[in-house]
This record gives sequence, structure tokens and C-alpha cells, in this order.
Amino acid sequence: MNFVEKKILEEGRVEGEDILKVDSFLNHQIDVEFLNEIGKRFKELFKDQKVDKILTVEASGIAIACICAQYFNVPVVFAKKMDSKNLDKETYESEVYSFTKAKHYTIKISKRYLGRGENVLFIDDFLANGRAALGIKNIVDQAGANLVGIGIVIEKGFQEGRAILDDLGINLHSLAIIEKMEKGKISFKSL
Ligand code: 5GP
Repeated sequence: MNFVEKKILEEGRVEGEDILKVDSFLNHQIDVEFLNEIGKRFKELFKDQKVDKILTVEASGIAIACICAQYFNVPVVFAKKMDSKNLDKETYESEVYSFTKAKHYTIKISKRYLGRGENVLFIDDFLANGRAALGIKNIVDQAGANLVGIGIVIEKGFQEGRAILDDLGINLHSLAIIEKMEKGKISFKSL
């Protein structure tokens, strides 16, 4: 069992059939030591890729992406979900369906911070149905940048995200893949 799987078993809480709450270390309170190990692990997994920039989506992805970025020595750009008067007018935008909120939202990245030919690694906390990842892929394509990989802390392997990203030939690494969460009991797929 790896350190992410261990942490999930110790602190994760299953809600209903398909939601995992990890508020004690990732989504509300943040365990920085744990994130640091995640940063090291993603650096190992993507060591052969040229990475110019790490992309994520606000809010939960930001802390994870920032710690990873220290190992890659690159900046982080996070897609904005909330409307803000401060955001540049010139943006790349994509519509995303939120699995947890059961509604659509628009993610936006200023054209100033994503350029043609840049090699981009997308980092996020969860992979469920792959909608956030597809939204980011769409923005990266609009910019003429290259999506060199996707790093996910917790993948829910019983949802369709991986199949969709595999079909697109995306280089995907997850640190833990949940096979099922029946009656609150979590089991993992071997990596
Ligand atoms: P997807 O876009 O792959 O359908 O869903 C991924 C996004 O939804 C993640 O960025 C995460 O914020 C949220 N998400 C999906 N499933 C879960 C879950 O079981 N627990 C938590 N905490 N967030 C989830």
C-alpha cells in the first residue's frame, strides 16, 4: 500500500455511493508534509517530460500544484471558476460539468499566461468523469500549447474519466485508484 492509499484509508470518509471526502488533509485542512510527498512523486512520474508550466483548477488544485511546481521549478496557472472583475478580458474558456455540484461552470485562463508551444502538466485532486481534465485539455488546445501529462492524487476508477483520457492518448498518472467504495469500505486497484 502506498502513502496516498494509506492516508485515504486512515482519514477518508465515504459519502453515499461515490463521493470520497478528504477534508482533513486535501480539501479543507491541508497536510503540507503529505502534499510534499505528492510533489516528489509526481516529479518522479513525469521526469521524462519537458514541463514549462503546471495548470490546475481553483480551489483545491492550487495547493497541490504549487508544491509540485517547486520540484519542477515552473510556475503554476490555475483556471478560474469564479467570475472576477480583475480577470483579464482576453481569456480562453471552457464549459465543465461538475460531478460534485451537479451543475455546469465555466473555467477561464487569461491568454497572457498560456502560450503557443508551452508544455503543460495538469494536476488535480480527483479524477471522476474527466470533465475538469477535458475542460483543461480544451483550453490548452485553444492556446496551441501541449498537454504533456495529467497527474491526479485520487482517481475513482469506477467512473469513466480514465477511459475518456486514454482514448485521447493522454499520459495519465494517478497516485491512488479506488476500485470501489461499497458500504463505506474502500478498495484500491493495483497501480
Ligand atoms: P471530474 O471532472 O473528473 O468529473 O471530477 C473531478 C473534480 O470533481 C475534481 O476536481 C474534484 O474537485 C471533484 N470531485 C469528483 N469526485 C470527487 C470526490 O469523490 N470527492 C471530492 N472531494 N471531490 C470530487
